[in-house]
Amino acid sequence: MLRIIFLGTGGSLPTRNRNPSAVIINFKGELLLFDCGEGTQQQMMRAKTGMMSLSSIFISHFHADHFLGIPGLIQTMSFLGRKEPLTIYGPEGTKEFTEFFKILGYCNLKYEVRGVELSPGDIVEGKDYVVRALRTEHSIPSLGYALIENPRPGRFNRARAVGLGVPPGPLFAKLQKGSPVEVDGKIIMPEEVVGAPRPGRKVIYTGDTRPCEEVLEASRDADILIHDGSFADEMADWAGESMHSTAGEVAALAKEAGVRKLVLTHVSSRYTDDVEPILKDSKKVFENVIVAEDLMELEVPYRPD
Ligand SMILES: [Zn+2]
Ligand SMILES: [Zn+2]
Repeated sequence: MLRIIFLGTGGSLPTRNRNPSAVIINFKGELLLFDCGEGTQQQMMRAKTGMMSLSSIFISHFHADHFLGIPGLIQTMSFLGRKEPLTIYGPEGTKEFTEFFKILGYCNLKYEVRGVELSPGDIVEGKDYVVRALRTEHSIPSLGYALIENPRPGRFNRARAVGLGVPPGPLFAKLQKGSPVEVDGKIIMPEEVVGAPRPGRKVIYTGDTRPCEEVLEASRDADILIHDGSFADEMADWAGESMHSTAGEVAALAKEAGVRKLVLTHVSSRYTDDVEPILKDSKKVFENVIVAEDLMELEVPYRPD
């Protein structure tokens, strides 16, 4: 399973129908949270994501709309009896902020919360995935993230294996795991019956940013690109000044990168009820785009072989 749940899709401020930034990814039962705006824990309750399987929080940058939900969330998990450690990853300043979250109020955390600072290119290795930190362009130190699933083994050619005399059963499994087997004195190599490894799925989360080179490169062939889409093109000047992006700019990047689906988020409060201007400007350039809504869920399927 790789399911993306949009917990907060508003830009800079919460609005009546949008929480500030937070996206949670359920990767095969493990929860990874990307940004944690105010109110994220209640959005997790509404989306029924659970909390105890949360292993890591990846913060894009320390503007208030991306991290104010952390103190409440970590205290709630302590109250609920969490024992497993939690890691907060982010750009420079993350260690200091994490210490601050931990001592905010009279809280007595019952589990370990660690802050880890990442630089562009750094890799966090998880179970069957990696998260790579990306250089982004915002007004303060910031990072985007690429969640990349490890490659899957190639497809097993059952008919060929039977044709080579391999009896169905444990020897099939051995070949699938990459070990040679012996049948009637003959060695069968896994390459003879197993296809090339298949690439894993890839999801990019940019946080707040101008469209930029490193996000473009990381997004090549991505399944999902979740990008700052704060404004329609009419606000291009302000998008540049405030170091955000317009729908048209991001659509051009998505097209060049060949992403399968683009999701625009961090929607400015001026479009909170009507995202049509954003959608229209992006569709002119790139057809497969949606604008995120709070509590929207996206399942990312395996690609067809
Ligand atoms: Zn923001
Ligand atoms: Zn920001």
